[in-house]
Amino acid sequence: MCSIEPCSLLQQSNYDCIIIVGDNPLHLGQNLSAFSKTIQHYCAKNCSIMSPKSTTFVPCSESVAPAGRLVFAHTGPLNRDFDDSRSLYDAAQRGIELAISAGSRSPLLCRAWLGSLPSDQWSMDLNNLDRCIALGALQAVYCPLEVREATGNRNAALVGRLGYLVNQEDDATAALVAQRFNFIRALESGRQLARDIGGSDPERMSPGRIADRLASEFGVVSNGPVVMEIEESIKPEKYPLMAAVDRGSVERHRGKVVHLTYEGELNSRADAADRSHVTLLLAGKGVTFDSGGLSLKTGGSMVGMHRDKCGAAAVAGLFSLLAQLRPPNLTARCSLGLVRNSIGSGSYSPDEVIVSRAGRRVRVVNTDAEGRMILADLLCLQRERALELAEPSRARLFTVATLTGHAVLAYGQGYSIAMDNGPARRLGVAAKLQAAGDLIADPFEISTVRREDWDFVRSSGPYEELLQCNPQPSAATPRGHQFPAAFLAAASGLDK
Ligand SMILES: [Zn+2]
Repeated sequence: MCSIEPCSLLQQSNYDCIIIVGDNPLHLGQNLSAFSKTIQHYCAKNCSIMSPKSTTFVPCSESVAPAGRLVFAHTGPLNRDFDDSRSLYDAAQRGIELAISAGSRSPLLCRAWLGSLPSDQWSMDLNNLDRCIALGALQAVYCPLEVREATGNRNAALVGRLGYLVNQEDDATAALVAQRFNFIRALESGRQLARDIGGSDPERMSPGRIADRLASEFGVVSNGPVVMEIEESIKPEKYPLMAAVDRGSVERHRGKVVHLTYEGELNSRADAADRSHVTLLLAGKGVTFDSGGLSLKTGGSMVGMHRDKCGAAAVAGLFSLLAQLRPPNLTARCSLGLVRNSIGSGSYSPDEVIVSRAGRRVRVVNTDAEGRMILADLLCLQRERALELAEPSRARLFTVATLTGHAVLAYGQGYSIAMDNGPARRLGVAAKLQAAGDLIADPFEISTVRREDWDFVRSSGPYEELLQCNPQPSAATPRGHQFPAAFLAAASGLDK
């Protein structure tokens, strides 16, 4: 795994390329004055370096930059209505990619003085700027698990060393910088785990092999910061809706449920009844491959469905972060439903009526709506766990999933969507998620669950209480990503 290290310009000989992330190549700022002349000289000969969002390799001598490699990654202006922290993230990613293609194996990132920074939340704090640039760079150096295994390269990164230029004038700043980079490294280790699980093919990351990967990450011992439990099969009496999805798979692809628990120490200043202690209860959708089941995906839309496990992957990544940062005053528990939605003679079918863990009679209409089948039972489990707490109101329940095709239709690629139920809306949870995402170049849109969504899933027939879906693909259904949230709340018993 590649970790990013803060360093000073005096240590630049440890690196083999300088990558400057900036919004104006003619104004790099005092810290980077050593490179100003070279870049100004280059600008006079080739003004393409001035183009917003361009990435330029600037030829120079080894006395200017180590190994004679200097890259300028242009962020473009940062202060227009639509600019956000992704401008920094993307520029760093492009800069590192160009450096790697030029042969660099130990790049050094530098943030130039940014003259067009607006006074927005994301841009007010140096921490955030460095975090966005570092995370963009770390995205560029990630090497996929399958490539690592095929090439015998154990390292999760395409480079051996990654540096980040900082000023550490005194011990106080040095301590703050160390803290900043500890956080970035922990965040990145969580992202790497999530990418390894989410991005790998459906055989490499079948349910059983995901469980193996998680066991090697967290250990099956009970004395680590995160304790892991595996249910080796999905029992219909415990998880009736999830077990139905699992029915169509062959033995090799059979589903598992993984539970992770993180117990943070109580803050020394607080007692057990401290009001700030929060319990996070999460459920992650880990569909290792989604064929659609009997409601088969057609017309080429099955391709890419190995990534339908990214909800579970993201939740596992969060627990990796918790294991490293060990935040106090927090308990977190999650359940990951690792299931393949296969087509076979045993597959669950439209028209079946199944009683959910919460005791609700659910009519299956579309077997491609399998995510909500998995999450409804796991959300019900989290609801039961919340009710066991001394103060259930201190629990925060989340489901995390690759949403429906309708989500992409509604908002486009690259956006997560947050939806609150009533209690969450009163706490402003979706708005807080959106604000937090804005700080680290990971934007969220907020959707609202409305009365039409509840009407949509309520059955008028005598056999069932709830309809799981309609027969059409979600992208052809109005409110195709909002009404499943109403289904989840109802089928899990959360509405009660
Ligand atoms: Zn599906």
